[in-house]
Amino acid sequence: MDQIRIENLEIYGFHGVFLEETKEGQIFQIDARLYVDLRPAGKKDELSLSTHYGEVCHFMTQYFRENTYALIEAAAEHLARAVLLKFPLIERLELEVKKPHAPIGLPFGNVSVFIDRGWNTAYLGIGSNLGEKQNFIDRAVTGLKGNELIRKVKCSQMIETPPYGDAALYDFLNGVIELKTLLTPYELLDFLHQLEEEAGRERKIHWGPRTLDLDLLFYQDFVSNDPLLTVPHPDMENREFVLKPLDELCPWYLNPVTGKTVRQMLNDLKNKKEADQ
Ligand code: AMP
Repeated sequence: MDQIRIENLEIYGFHGVFLEETKEGQIFQIDARLYVDLRPAGKKDELSLSTHYGEVCHFMTQYFRENTYALIEAAAEHLARAVLLKFPLIERLELEVKKPHAPIGLPFGNVSVFIDRGWNTAYLGIGSNLGEKQNFIDRAVTGLKGNELIRKVKCSQMIETPPYGDAALYDFLNGVIELKTLLTPYELLDFLHQLEEEAGRERKIHWGPRTLDLDLLFYQDFVSNDPLLTVPHPDMENREFVLKPLDELCPWYLNPVTGKTVRQMLNDLKNKKEADQ
């Protein structure tokens, strides 16, 4: 993707583990690569279609001066998040925070941390089969939209589906949500659990009736086999109530494990069902 590059922006800051560093301060240098689609601005020669690098430099300088961290790791992490939240056209940001006068007591050129942060696309399965189902779903969507680290929340149509799993008694209302997030997959999962708890969900019976069920289906091309977080969601290929709404939002999305598109998975499932009949 296109980039805007900023090199060696000098900022006087007060970050460090030692008292003198937070009292006296020292010079830091920042390199940043802003991943922005530059074509619209390039074609029209119009600044409002790009990200103003001058504004980014002033914003970083002010943020870096006004906040104090013991570690340059923390300074970089917070600065990257602040920049990504402030400038919506920046999809991704590579940031290097250099500390050329770090109190090491040895001759050295520079010391720095480098991080790479950005908005990641995720797909969630959402379902409810207890009480005011649509209401639980609407509240979860409001909760997602209310998190500043989540944006561009888009919902599929919700579909009624018969009970799934041994202990489920009532019809489900199911759908899929697309979003972009600065949260990592595990942080996103924690937030989904928080929303489930707020909906009063009790995890007494596996597969039992639930006010709200949120599953992480895809997170970019992230792959994990951890029982706490298995991505892509392992049972996705057998669930029409997941694949149908997913097909509405992203038919050509590739499962990074099988290499199949959502449309292929849906067709395979339909064919399998027909063959079983
Ligand atoms: P469930 O009762 O179906 O909501 O299952 C929840 C459990 O599955 C939690 O303990 C999660 O840590 C775990 N889990 C594993 N992979 C995922 C995933 N992709 N999305 C949601 N929960 C997951």
